[in-house]
Amino acid sequence: MIRFSDDIKRLWRFLRGKIKGPMTLNIYQAKAWKTAIYPCKGHNLIYPVLGLNGEAGEIAEACKKMMRDDNNHLTITRKADIIREIGDVLWYVAALCQELDIPMEKVARKNLEKLADRQRRNKIHGDGDDR
Ligand SMILES: [Mg+2]
Repeated sequence: MIRFSDDIKRLWRFLRGKIKGPMTLNIYQAKAWKTAIYPCKGHNLIYPVLGLNGEAGEIAEACKKMMRDDNNHLTITRKADIIREIGDVLWYVAALCQELDIPMEKVARKNLEKLADRQRRNKIHGDGDDR
């Protein structure tokens, strides 16, 4: 019988989640938008941009602490922290898409098209957005 440590049990409970049913990026975007409370919601591009940068910074901070405190080893607890912060990033991406009146799935599709095009032209490596 496999015995899980308390950390793994906590991570499993966290990942299992409570929200059931199908999940697409657009469903997420709509549900996330219902939880959005900030000044001039719907006409405020800056708020989600600042939040997105803050949450991306929290991911970087977790990785820094992994290096400093855990000898560069990804612990279960740290992994759960990073996953939680990715969710926060996703929330701000959803809010930003909402402010721009664009479905997240359209953004995702355009991004994959861009990457596939770069791959076809062997331009995945290198710099610049317009490769
Ligand atoms: Mg956060």
